[in-house]
Amino acid sequence: MPASQCPSCGAPVEIKNRFSKVLVCAYCGTHLRVSGDGFDATGKHPKLAEFPSLFQVGSRGTILGKPFTAMGRMRYNYTGGHFDEWFLEYDGGTAWFTEDEGTYSLYAEVEDAAELPDISAIRAGQNLLIGGKKVMVKEKGVAEVAGAEGELSFYIVPGTKVVYMDGISEGKKISIEATEDEIEMFIGRLLLSRDIVVQ
Ligand SMILES: [Zn+2]
Repeated sequence: MPASQCPSCGAPVEIKNRFSKVLVCAYCGTHLRVSGDGFDATGKHPKLAEFPSLFQVGSRGTILGKPFTAMGRMRYNYTGGHFDEWFLEYDGGTAWFTEDEGTYSLYAEVEDAAELPDISAIRAGQNLLIGGKKVMVKEKGVAEVAGAEGELSFYIVPGTKVVYMDGISEGKKISIEATEDEIEMFIGRLLLSRDIVVQ
C-alpha cells in the first residue's frame, strides 16, 4: 500500500485498500490518483458540504450482519437533490453503498457493461439485455459528480455528467452509470434501516 506525502500540501497520505485508484487529501482537498508507489495530483476540489449521513470516512459496523468499513464516497447532484455512493470494505471484499434521500442500497457486484446499446435511446420501462441478463429500466436521468472524499476504487472527476439508470434484474437491484469513457453496472439490493448497524 503506498504511503507518502500529498504532492500538493505535504500532508501524510496513505491508501488502505489495494483496489483504490484515487485518494482525496483530507487536508487540502486535492484529488490524488494512485500511480505506482506514489500519487499524482489531478486537481483541487472543494470539500463536500455536510449533509446528514449514516457514515463518515472510517465508519465501521455491519450490513446484513457482515462487517464493513466506509473507505470513501462520491457525491452526485441531480434535479431531485443529491445522492452519495460509498466505497466499502465489506465482508472480506468490497462493495458500494448508496444513500439517496433516506433510501439505502448495497451493491456487492460490479460489471463492466461496455456492450450496452446506445444509451441515449434507452427509455424508462424498456427491457435491455446486458451481459446475458435481462434488465428492466425503471428510471433514467443525468447527474453531475459534485465531489469526493476518502479513497475510491471507482472514480469520476467532479463536474462530469453521468447518465444513471436504475432497474431490476432477476429480483436484484441494478444501477448503471455511464460516462463518455465507461459504463459500469452495479448489482445489489435495497436495504432496510435495521440491516445497517454503525458502531
Ligand atoms: Zn494535500
